[in-house]
Formats: sequence, structure tokens, C-alpha cells
Amino acid sequence: MFVVALTGGIGSGKSEAAKQFANIGIPVVDLDVIAHELTAIGAPMLSDIVRIFGQEFLAETGALNRAKLREHVFNQPNERLKLQALIHPAIHANALKLLQDHEDGLHPPYQILVVPLLFENNHYDDVINKILVIDCDETLQIQRTMARSKMTEAQVKAVMSAQVTRATRLALADEIIKNNGSVSELHENISLIHKKFIKTCIVSQ
Ligand code: ADP
Repeated sequence: MFVVALTGGIGSGKSEAAKQFANIGIPVVDLDVIAHELTAIGAPMLSDIVRIFGQEFLAETGALNRAKLREHVFNQPNERLKLQALIHPAIHANALKLLQDHEDGLHPPYQILVVPLLFENNHYDDVINKILVIDCDETLQIQRTMARSKMTEAQVKAVMSAQVTRATRLALADEIIKNNGSVSELHENISLIHKKFIKTCIVSQ
């Protein structure tokens, strides 16, 4: 199994990049997607969250009010640890299972594992072969996140300051894709790096 971790700051273009890897036939496992599935309506973990944090974190629809929970744990390390202790082991186990299922069923040349907070809390060292960072200028990162998530500039900046710095991320990357241009430029750069990964994983097998 050859696994490329795809990471980057909020709004850098990880999801857009992951979509393009999937379009060209590379299996993608995304920890955020797993977290959403594990806490969807009807999932046992949603009941656990309500039991631990309270009914007020449910929206009227019965779905998890993610924005409210995110805000609740943002400035409260103890609450954040409680949430992480509850959901991280399940996310980790699901991610490993999906990677193994892809490996067994699809025999892909490599797989993409989207780990938004790879450098903040790394539980994936043992499965990752390469680290790909999606990077863009901070002004663009802020603009794109504000547009996507209906957040204010101050909210985006607060999230960014809780993440590792751009310089740290770039220093720890094996490969970097700059996402300052158009979406089609991003797609072209992914096709190029795809060819490189194919060569790398053939050599290492
Ligand atoms: P992340 O997953 O890293 O938080 P996204 O992939 O969701 O970031 O990108 C943030 C927002 O910016 C999304 O609305 C996405 O469609 C948009 N976006 C990503 N890359 C580009 C680009 N090169 N040009 C314009 N918009 C982009």
C-alpha cells in the first residue's frame, strides 16, 4: 500500500484537489468525510456527543449543529480533548479499514488520505508514505474560506492561527502544489503530480 497524505490549511483547496484525484481514478479517503458520516443522524456517535455535550448541540432537524460544537471546543482545550477522545479512534479505525478495502478491491497504484490537521495531531505516521501540501497565499485562503463557509475574516483568521503556520507546513511537505491560480490550473498540477507519484510508488514497491 502506498499512501499520500493530502493536507493544507483551511480553504487552501484540499477538497478541490481530492476531487480531482478521485476524477483521475485514485481512491480518496477523507477524514472529514468519515467524521461527518460517523456523526450523521442515526449514527451511534451522535447520541454519544449529545450525551456528553448536551442536547443543545442538535439542530431542529436532529442533525449535529457542527458550527456550534466547533465553536464550543475552539477555545476550551478540555472540551476539545473530550471530543477528540470520542471521535478520533473511530475515525482512525474507519480510515485504515477503507484504505485496506481499496487496496484489496482496487489494487490502486497509490491512495490519497486527506488529513486536514496532519501536523497538528498526527495519528497517521505509520500509514503515510508521502506528504502533499496544497498551499495558497493567505489572502486567497481567507477570501475563499469566507465565500465557501460564510465565515467572517476574523473567524477564518482565528482558525488559521490555531493551525500550524504556513512555513511549518511547507517545511514538512514532500511535495507542494501552489493553488494561487484557477481551478483548472490546480487540476493540471494534480495530473502532473499524479504521474510523479505513479513513478515513485513503482520504484518503492
Ligand atoms: P479546503 O478543503 O482546503 O478547506 P476547498 O477545496 O474547500 O478547501 O477550497 C476552498 C474554497 O475555494 C472552495 O469553495 C473551492 O471551491 C474554492 N477553490 C479551491 N481552489 C480554487 C481555485 N484554484 N480557484 C478558485 N476557487 C478555488
